[in-house]
Amino acid sequence: MTYPDLSLYIDGEWIADRVTVPVINPATEETLAHLPLAGVDDLDRAIAAAVRGGKVWRDTPVADRTRILLRAADLLAGRADRVAEIMTLEQGKPRAEARNEVLRVAGALRWDAEDARRAYGRIIPSAGDTVLSVRHEPVGPVAAFTPWNFPAGSPMRKMAGALSAGCSIVIKASEETPGTASEIVRCFAEAGLPAGALNLVFGEPAEVSKHLIASPDIRLVAFTGSIPVGKLLAAQAGAEMKPSLMELGGHAPVIVAADADPVQAARKAAFAKFVNAGQVCTSPSRFLVHESLYSTFVAEFTAAAGRVVVGDGLHEGVTMGPLANERRLKAMEELVADAVSRGAVIKAGGERLDRPGYFFPPTVLVDVPGDARIMREEPFGPIAPIVAFSDLDEALRIANSLPYGLAAYGFTRSSKTAERLATGFEAGILSINHCGGSVHEAPSGGVKQSGYGREGGPEGVEAYLITKRVSHLLV
Ligand code: NAD
Repeated sequence: MTYPDLSLYIDGEWIADRVTVPVINPATEETLAHLPLAGVDDLDRAIAAAVRGGKVWRDTPVADRTRILLRAADLLAGRADRVAEIMTLEQGKPRAEARNEVLRVAGALRWDAEDARRAYGRIIPSAGDTVLSVRHEPVGPVAAFTPWNFPAGSPMRKMAGALSAGCSIVIKASEETPGTASEIVRCFAEAGLPAGALNLVFGEPAEVSKHLIASPDIRLVAFTGSIPVGKLLAAQAGAEMKPSLMELGGHAPVIVAADADPVQAARKAAFAKFVNAGQVCTSPSRFLVHESLYSTFVAEFTAAAGRVVVGDGLHEGVTMGPLANERRLKAMEELVADAVSRGAVIKAGGERLDRPGYFFPPTVLVDVPGDARIMREEPFGPIAPIVAFSDLDEALRIANSLPYGLAAYGFTRSSKTAERLATGFEAGILSINHCGGSVHEAPSGGVKQSGYGREGGPEGVEAYLITKRVSHLLV
C-alpha cells in the first residue's frame, strides 16, 4: 500500500519543494508523507493563475467545458479503488465507505457539469426599441476551504460547482487529508482543464484564508467546517463585500414519535450515527424518543452499536475506522466524562480503545441531562445521547433550542405527525423515516448558525453565478 508524494498544484504545475508538515495515518499514528505548504508568493501565484485560467475557462465553449469535466469524472470513477485506499490511509474510514464517497463525488461532478449547461437567461418583453435580457455569468475566481471528514466529498462539491459554472478556483483542502484532494485535481488536469482554472494549495489555514479572501481578484468564498471558523471567514468576506457560502456544523436532532417503529428507527439511526465514526456535519446527534418506546429503542440501538466492527479501515470486515485525528479523541473523552458527571449512564463504549490509533468505540449514553455538553455541542464523533420525551411539542422545542439548524430526522407512522415535524423542525435538511444522505439533485445546507448557501441541486451551481441585467437600446 503506497501513499502518494504530495505537492501544491499552481498554474498547472506540481510544486513540492517547500517546508513540509507530516500527514498521519489515524489508524496507526504513523507518518504517511510530508506535505509541502504554500508561502505568500505561492498564494499570489495561485491567485494570478486563477485570474488568467479563469478567463480561459469562462471563454471555453460550454460544450467543451462539459466534455472536460465529464472526462475528469470518468477518470476519477476509474480510479475509485486507488483513491479510496489513499482516503482510508489518511482519514481512517473503511475502504468501502471511501470507495462509495469517490464514486458519489464523480456522480456529483457529472450532475453539476450537465446542470450548468442549462444556466439559461431570459429575454423580457419591453419597449420596442430595447432588448431587455437577464444573463448568468460565472462570479469569478473562487477561494474554497474544505475539512478532513469527507476528503473527496467536500473538495469536489466546491470544485464541481465552481468549475461547472465557469469559475476558476483556488482551493485549500485539509492538510490532514491532502492525498485524496490531490488525486481529484490530477483527474481534472489529465482531463484537459486549462492551467490556472484549478489550483490546490495547503498551508497554515488562518494565513491562507486571510490572504486569499483579502485579494480583490477573489470574488467568492466557499467554506465547509466548524461554526467558529465559518464566522471568522464570513466576517473577512463581508469586510470585502464578497459573497460567501458557509456549510457549517450542526447538532442534528432525531425525534422518534410515539407511533414510530422503534426497532426500525433505532437500526436506521444507529447506522447513520456511526457512519464515518460520526464525523459528519449531518450526523444524528441528539436522540429524543417517546417514553413509550424508550426502552425498546435503547436496547435495539445499543445492540446495533455492539455490531459495529471497529478497526483499521483497510482491514476486511471493519465497519468503523478510527477518529480522524487526536483532537476528536480528546473531545470524545471530555464529552463522555462531562455527561457521566451529570448523571448520564453509559450503555456501550465510553472509553478510547487501548491500542495505537485514534480509536473510540460506538458509545451510547442514556438518561442524559439537558445541561450536559453533549446535548448542546456537536460531538463530531461516535457518541449517541438518548433521552425520553412525553410530548411532541416539547420534543420539537428541545430539537430547535440550539443555535444550529443543519439536519434533522423524524420517525413516525402518521402522515399528520410527519407533516408536523416537516414544518416544525428548524433545519435545512430533513429526513423522515430514514436518515438520508446528500444527493446530487437536491440542495443541502443549513439555517441559523449552521450557515447559508446550498450545495447540490441547481442551487449548487447557481451559487457560483451572478445575474446580469442587460438593457440594449437598439440604434
Ligand atoms: P477547526 O475549527 O480547527 O477546523 C475545521 C476545518 O477548518 C479544518 O479543516 C481546518 O483546517 C479549517 N480551518 C481552521 N481554521 C481555518 C481558517 N482560519 N481558515 C480556513 N480554514 C480553517 O476544527 P477541527 O478540529 O478540524 O474540527 C472540529 C470541529 O469542526 C468539529 O467538531 C466540527 O464541529 C467541525 N467540522 C465541521 C465540518 C463540516 O462538515 N461542517 C467538517 C469538519 C469539522
